[in-house]
Amino acid sequence: MDRAEEYVNNSFLLRDVLGVTINLWLMFLVLAVMHVLCSFQLVASLMIRDAFVIMRRRWSNHLEQRNTLLKALRGMILLTSDWSVIYIYLYLMFSLAGLLISPFFFVFHLFDIIPRSRILHHVIMAITKPARSLAMTCILGIIIIYTFAVVAYVFLRSAYVIDSDGEGSYSTCDSVFQCMLVTTAEGLTHGGGIAEFLDPKDYQESNVFTAMFGLRYFFDILFFVVVFIVLLNIIFGIIVDTFGELRAIRSRTEEEMKDFCFICSLSRYTLDHEGSGFTNHTRNEHRMWNYLFYLLYIQSKPVYDLTGLETYVYEKYRKRDPSWFPVGRAQCVEQCVK
Ligand SMILES: [Zn+2]
Repeated sequence: MDRAEEYVNNSFLLRDVLGVTINLWLMFLVLAVMHVLCSFQLVASLMIRDAFVIMRRRWSNHLEQRNTLLKALRGMILLTSDWSVIYIYLYLMFSLAGLLISPFFFVFHLFDIIPRSRILHHVIMAITKPARSLAMTCILGIIIIYTFAVVAYVFLRSAYVIDSDGEGSYSTCDSVFQCMLVTTAEGLTHGGGIAEFLDPKDYQESNVFTAMFGLRYFFDILFFVVVFIVLLNIIFGIIVDTFGELRAIRSRTEEEMKDFCFICSLSRYTLDHEGSGFTNHTRNEHRMWNYLFYLLYIQSKPVYDLTGLETYVYEKYRKRDPSWFPVGRAQCVEQCVK
């Protein structure tokens, strides 16, 4: 809060830009108010456009609920459990905080680049998708570092004593917890592992054959190899592999969208040579949006009014059975073969 006030008092003054004096504070105020209004508009459009769809989707399991008030209340609770809704609310809250509390709250809105960029979305997915593997590896890492901390506390406490300039020396390993904190932070942030932080080893010949020297020697090397090389690279490997996997899936999907009909899966080559042409086929004969409209139409129609064909498709759709799609078949190809 103090920093924000300081920033406002020092920087938001009158400035001369190209001979014109402008009041930066006023300019900020106008932009901030516009931002808040836009955020409100975003929330309003979400409420009007998406809220009912989300509520309906979540409601489908609670249709037996007859009380409208209870239904609405449950809908509101369900609505706040949707991530896209929570994000929009946060967007508005940070915008208001930016205007009313401190302009620094507007930093949150820079992250809006993530949901808007498909590439960045994949970068985030590369961390969130293997979250379980990453979490388990991290737990293993904590256990390994804890083991090192316990060994350090029992045998190598003297190596954790550091000299502070001119103020004597103090120990950074008076308890296992303190040892754990120091080993984790210093071991992971130094290029050579924990060895770079600890007291230098005494390599004099009279010392190298002692048990303590041997323990310290292997302690440093093992920490470097196990934690710094193996463990960290496993974590990087998981993230990089997932990113590569996602990229491969995306490029395969894009290829399929470009060269195969979404409905019948016939290839561009087959449709161009034996049918009515790929573009004509996907735009007019097997237009995927028409299939979606048809499904929405069937869902919105009362069950008793469905025709025989519609009931057939509706039943298949409910069982998530895609066999009603003409996979591998298209009238234009069949007519051409005849
Ligand atoms: Zn097709």
